[in-house]
Amino acid sequence: MGRATNVHWYQGSLTREERWSHLGAKGCTIWFTGLSASGKSTISSAVEKVLVSRGVRAYRLDGDNLRHGLNADLGFSADDRVENVRRVGEVARLFADAGSVALSAFISPYLRDRDACRQAHDKAGLPFLEVFVDAPLAVCEQRDPKGLYQKAREGLIQGFTGIDDPYEPPRNPDLVLKTHEMSIDQCVDACLGLLEQNGLLSGP
Ligand code: ADP
Repeated sequence: MGRATNVHWYQGSLTREERWSHLGAKGCTIWFTGLSASGKSTISSAVEKVLVSRGVRAYRLDGDNLRHGLNADLGFSADDRVENVRRVGEVARLFADAGSVALSAFISPYLRDRDACRQAHDKAGLPFLEVFVDAPLAVCEQRDPKGLYQKAREGLIQGFTGIDDPYEPPRNPDLVLKTHEMSIDQCVDACLGLLEQNGLLSGP
């Protein structure tokens, strides 16, 4: 419970099981984490495309995109990063509850914040699959599709993950994608395999 008082949970008249059964859907969150330029947006968007083309509800929550709207009031301070991830975790949980595969693509550098999102999903009885998009810093820096590493090295951006802010890798990810060794297609197949292994691709 947050700061609001006299707020009561309204259960509604439709259970999750009924919703998913009527929609022929199964919800979950795939949480992509990794350094900037490791490939989170590229892979999550390719996975989204394959899933939707197969008739599976899927929706991507992309770090940069959400900072245009829901998270437009947040910067990159430690507190703001925590709040950024918390909000995305909550939105992902809602999408998952609604029966979608929520694909979250955020650096989400801190273990504690990602664990909090996992716990929120566990508590709600929703699957949370953490995918570590694992490319070495040197590779990400060389890719640098947005020129951000260069700016960080020049001191034009402070607190940049991997340069002057830490990245804490997952201790026990559900999947590791070494994007410097695997093609984009191989990464997408591995994500689909992960969904399949967890019984999340076929209808209920
Ligand atoms: P992020 O969302 O993690 O910041 P992006 O997806 O925006 O990363 O950028 C990753 C860059 O790396 C893209 O230019 C992409 O084409 C390139 N790339 C090369 N190989 C791969 C791969 N196997 N998986 C994902 N991206 C790759």
